[in-house]
Amino acid sequence: MAKYLPRSIDNFPIIARLASLLLIVGLVAAGDLSPPAEFHQLTQKPPVFDDFKRITFEVRGSNVRDGLRIKATKDRLARNSECKDYLGAPYNISAVKTFDGGSGLFELSVPRALRGDVYLCLPRQVRDFGGKIGDFRESLAYRWYHQGPDIRINVTADKQFDLSLQRRELPQQLPSFDNGTKNTIKILGLRLEHAYKHPDFDEQGVPVILAYKDNLFRIFGEGLTKSMLITFTTKQGDCLFPISSVFSVENSSFTSETALVTLNLPPLSGYEETYYICAKDADDGPNKLFDLQGTEFWHQVKSFDKPIPLWGSIMIIILCLMFSALFSGLNLGLMSLDKTDLKILSNIGTRAEKRYAQAIQPVRNHGNYLLCSILLSNVFINSIYTLFLDDLTSGFIAVIFSTLSIVLIGEIAPQAICSRHGLAIGAKTIYATKFVMLLTFPLAYPVAKILDYILGEEIGSVYNRERLKELIKVTTGNNELDKDEVNIISGALELCKKSVADVMTRIEDVFMLDYEAILDFETVSEIMKSGFSRIPVFEGNRQNIVTMLYIKDLAFVDPDDNTPLKTLCQFYQNPCNFVFEDVTLDVMFKIFKEGNKGHMAFVHRVNNEGEGDPFYETIGLITLEDVIEELIQAEIMDETDVFTDNRSKRKRHQAERRQDFTVFAEKRGEPSKMRISPQLTLAAFQYLSTSVESFNPNVISETILRRLLKQDIVIHIKKNKDWRTDPSNVIFDQGKPVDFFVIILEGRVEVTVGKESLMFEGGPFTYFGTQALVQTVGIESPSVAPSTMGSLESINIDSMLRHTFIPDYTVRASTEVLYLKIKRSLYLAAKRATLMERSKKGENQSDQQFDEEVDKLLHSLDEDDASVGRQTPRRKSTRKSQQEINVNSSTPAQQASPCKAPAPTPMGFGPTQRLVGVGIGVAGDANGSVKSSPIDDIQIVKDDEASMLLPKRT
Ligand code: ADP
Repeated sequence: MAKYLPRSIDNFPIIARLASLLLIVGLVAAGDLSPPAEFHQLTQKPPVFDDFKRITFEVRGSNVRDGLRIKATKDRLARNSECKDYLGAPYNISAVKTFDGGSGLFELSVPRALRGDVYLCLPRQVRDFGGKIGDFRESLAYRWYHQGPDIRINVTADKQFDLSLQRRELPQQLPSFDNGTKNTIKILGLRLEHAYKHPDFDEQGVPVILAYKDNLFRIFGEGLTKSMLITFTTKQGDCLFPISSVFSVENSSFTSETALVTLNLPPLSGYEETYYICAKDADDGPNKLFDLQGTEFWHQVKSFDKPIPLWGSIMIIILCLMFSALFSGLNLGLMSLDKTDLKILSNIGTRAEKRYAQAIQPVRNHGNYLLCSILLSNVFINSIYTLFLDDLTSGFIAVIFSTLSIVLIGEIAPQAICSRHGLAIGAKTIYATKFVMLLTFPLAYPVAKILDYILGEEIGSVYNRERLKELIKVTTGNNELDKDEVNIISGALELCKKSVADVMTRIEDVFMLDYEAILDFETVSEIMKSGFSRIPVFEGNRQNIVTMLYIKDLAFVDPDDNTPLKTLCQFYQNPCNFVFEDVTLDVMFKIFKEGNKGHMAFVHRVNNEGEGDPFYETIGLITLEDVIEELIQAEIMDETDVFTDNRSKRKRHQAERRQDFTVFAEKRGEPSKMRISPQLTLAAFQYLSTSVESFNPNVISETILRRLLKQDIVIHIKKNKDWRTDPSNVIFDQGKPVDFFVIILEGRVEVTVGKESLMFEGGPFTYFGTQALVQTVGIESPSVAPSTMGSLESINIDSMLRHTFIPDYTVRASTEVLYLKIKRSLYLAAKRATLMERSKKGENQSDQQFDEEVDKLLHSLDEDDASVGRQTPRRKSTRKSQQEINVNSSTPAQQASPCKAPAPTPMGFGPTQRLVGVGIGVAGDANGSVKSSPIDDIQIVKDDEASMLLPKRT
């Protein structure tokens, strides 16, 4: 039935009018935007019966347009008062049709059990300022306004309705609203026993539970039954429209005062603020309505639903974990690269490293800001991660899982990776970093500024000398530097820590010359032997160094001139450089580099010990080489160095190989033998060792030859008037056996050869009689043949043979002659000594021991020769008779007996061998003389002397 409601507001009581006026003013102030719809008249159509009553009604009013939302309420309020309680689902009012904004047909569907008046509320759009302090965000919202008690739909059970109910076999008698009189169940309150999530309560203590999750509640009351059913409504007044499912109590925990019930509630919709508990006994039948148990806080439960769906949560968790890993990786990767590292890389890195470093540098320059941003983001992300994880799982699992996942995936793995590839990862994610820095700017930047202020500007790692040295040392093996390079770097870094006193050559070890010294052969040899190229010269005592002698200064000095050193020093006037002992090596190096005062300096200190004035004391010398050795941490050897280390004085191996000319120098105070000048001895030495095969270094070592030359072998034939007839001028006499070798050093000799008396002339370095030294006759037994090198055994055999050489020429001095006469015995001793020397090298015999032995050997031979010399006249005749005997003798025993064995046979030489040897020797002599050609023996020393060697007829 259509019913027109009064349109004029005149019909409203005065207070209502005032209120609506105020409301309109308020709404205008609040920002009423679109013209609100208003109903002025409602005509109810006959209801359609179904499971729901569908009541069609027609309204007239203003702004009634399509899509107009209408809410139903059971509250009877004045027009334009704000609707607080609406009838939510399953109430529904939908538009059927609207006409020109002035009227419309709507349909209300209500549960069939509903009876009574339903009023309508219409929305008005207002500007909403959130209503919270500090929330200035403006939004559009709807408020619902009551259309007055006259705009009313009467939901009744009329005949038709009742018939329909009967037709559908619904209970004849519909329960009334207030049917609680029969109910004995009375719930006094409920308590959350166990929440699916950690329990939550609103400010009034109403439990707030997660929707669709089981939460255990305990209900308290009176007359509770096991069969009781519980449900919830959002409506304060009655339980006609229960919203949740129906729950039974748990039998196990049941008493008539308390019971446990597991509730699983749907979420509250926006307008419903809380659930009220309803209960009934199932035994009362299905038509029994639930009774509202009260609307106090202790009868209420609230529910909420998660704002984000499960898949959304999982996505967020994965994203959080990824970002957590990124931030902690960046934290280590970016922060561990300090400014210095980046500068180095951007200058000398590979192309990729340069690119990465250049990308990171601008961000890394704001170290604290970057640190704050990254850490802030990391912590924020980790918190979100834990929250979401906690939401998805239970708290304990969330803690364990989040700890493990954050540590393993979010911290360890990215940090391990970024510790190695931090540069590349940092550069590739630089935009993410910048974005994060931008996001966190409001908090991170001020904090960073405070840190900058407190901690000062970040400089990057600075390496001092010690740290740099250690860095290089500890990274040896990984840093591509080889050991020498590491040593050089460490040495260079240590230069300034060492003083010259630490590396100098001590004054007592310095080779110096006295200012008064004479530059004779001996001094020059000493200088050569020392191997130094700069020799300090002292005057008076070794502390008083006055000048220096450079070896090159000796270039024009002839040792024969016996030039005083003083003269040379005065001529060259080489300056000396003095430094204090505490001068550090870097300073010393600089001084040497400048080179103004040469590369050698004398180290002195102020001596103020004892009485008297302090004075400068020279304590050593230092050269550029000493400094460089410290720099490179290795010993430098030059071609003349004798010692490997100037302080430990360790001898250098190769030094032994060098010629030592001092041995040729005359030793002062030696017993006066016939002496020749050291230069001449040196020349004889050089000539013999290089040009005479018998004195070749393979046969007689250089040292032994030198010693040999120092023996008493020099003979001087003075010129006298009748030198032609004087027999003492004859060195070799034709046909007379000799056992010595002769080399002319000075003067000239006349050689008469053969029966035809061909005559030659010989000068210096002509030599005769090599065959007296070396047996040249054929040897039958190769086992005992004396080889060039020879063995001790063969030399012994050789010495025992005592074969004599009978020259077929005469050598006679034609001028004053100085010559060397080396006896066969001496020569053999020298050969033996050479062998001993070689075997000694194998046996590691000490030098001194060996020297003594060789001396003994040569000396014993000297003595032996002396005695032989003394016996010469007798011996000569003996030898001659021996020869004669030997020539005629036919038995080896006879030949052997007269032979003299000057040395014992250390190798156990047997009589049989001796006999064979002797036999050979005799066989050689059987022709009367050892075959030798005078031409062989007379060696042409110089080309211009060749003519003198041409045969001359006398
Ligand atoms: P040289 O060029 O004479 O070989 P270096 O300058 O190479 O001399 O120095 C080599 C080593 O010999 C250094 O340790 C230095 O101290 C030491 N040294 C140089 N001259 C002398 C000298 N006259 N006496 C002792 N030691 C010297």
